Amino acid sequence: MVNEENKNKCARETCGCPAAKDSKYCGEECEDAAKVRMMEIGCTCHHPESG
Ligand SMILES: [Zn+2]
Ligand SMILES: [Zn+2]
Repeated sequence: MVNEENKNKCARETCGCPAAKDSKYCGEECEDAAKVRMMEIGCTCHHPESG
């Protein structure tokens, strides 16, 4: 089980999606959410839960 994507995961703690190539986050939603640090239980981005 060698997951290179694992180290490229979204920097958002509550997100489990792989980060975009040129970003620490998987998308703008996570980047925004990380900035405002909204209280949240889980990832709210629209990425499918895979992996
Ligand atoms: Zn996500
Ligand atoms: Zn994310």
